[in-house]
Amino acid sequence: MSAFQTETVLSVQHWTDSLFSFTATRDPGFRFQSGQFAMIGLEVDGRPLMRAYSMASANHEEELEFFSIKVPDGPLTSRLQKIKEGDRILVGRKATGTLIAGNLLPGKRLLLLSTGTGLAPFASLIKDPEIYENYETIVLAHGCRQVSELAYGERLVEKLRDHEFFGPLVSDKLHYYPSVTREPFRNRGRITDLIASGQLFEDIGQSLLDRDTDRVMMCGSPAMLAELQDMMAERGFSEGNHSTPGHFVIEKAFVER
Ligand SMILES: Cc1cc2nc3c(=O)[nH]c(=O)nc-3n(C[C@H](O)[C@H](O)[C@H](O)COP(=O)(O)OP(=O)(O)OC[C@H]3O[C@@H](n4cnc5c(N)ncnc54)[C@H](O)[C@@H]3O)c2cc1C
Repeated sequence: MSAFQTETVLSVQHWTDSLFSFTATRDPGFRFQSGQFAMIGLEVDGRPLMRAYSMASANHEEELEFFSIKVPDGPLTSRLQKIKEGDRILVGRKATGTLIAGNLLPGKRLLLLSTGTGLAPFASLIKDPEIYENYETIVLAHGCRQVSELAYGERLVEKLRDHEFFGPLVSDKLHYYPSVTREPFRNRGRITDLIASGQLFEDIGQSLLDRDTDRVMMCGSPAMLAELQDMMAERGFSEGNHSTPGHFVIEKAFVER
């Protein structure tokens, strides 16, 4: 049996010159937990060209969804950005990753901190009823350079607010906090600075970071993660993993090559 399943692209949406999302069929045997990633890609010259991608769809959804960067000379995304409905993609059979509910100690407030395509695993998690059962409050922070780069996340939250089942949960528990660094916007600055200064919490009318009640998931650039990791260590938060749950968990949104 091949390590990859062939799936069919169902829809593609381009958000900016550098971001797009797409949905694809899902093999009923492909199991994953919301927040995990898998290898996905294309067959190029008869060989699979694969990269790690977080599922942006939740584990209960019938279709797969991905939120992707377009790297102009990137081996995969220079090709992947051209896919259209009906095209075939490859999806690895095994999902993995640390951004899962079970890797965190029980808590009251869940902070989902992301930059760029690091939003993808949290797009999955905020569509999972389990996190609304486990936490009293969920804060989804998404930082980008430009306002246009927030569009996918804004649309996602808007759709959830209108959703018959999720609508009441979202209005009761979810605080969505988009921010940008390079243009005027209602929330300005880097996620790391907005957390450190307390501005983010002030803006949403919430208490400051507290190890006793807060659990944190983070996914973004290697630099953002390093900074947040230091901030967590200074405050006595421990990192969780599959064997030992902790106060926070980390996943890189991409690797610098
Ligand atoms: C655990 C994990 C999960 C990932 N999930 C996603 C996802 O959901 N969506 C997604 O678009 N990518 C994701 N990536 C990155 C992805 O694996 C590829 O790197 C990306 O698709 C580009 O592939 P490429 O072959 O075109 O270029 P690559 O050769 O892979 O990358 C070239 C360069 O582009 C930059 N780059 C790559 N990916 C990104 C990115 N997402 N944002 C900003 N800069 C980037 C880096 O500087 C990198 O060195 C994930 C990576 C990891 C490790």
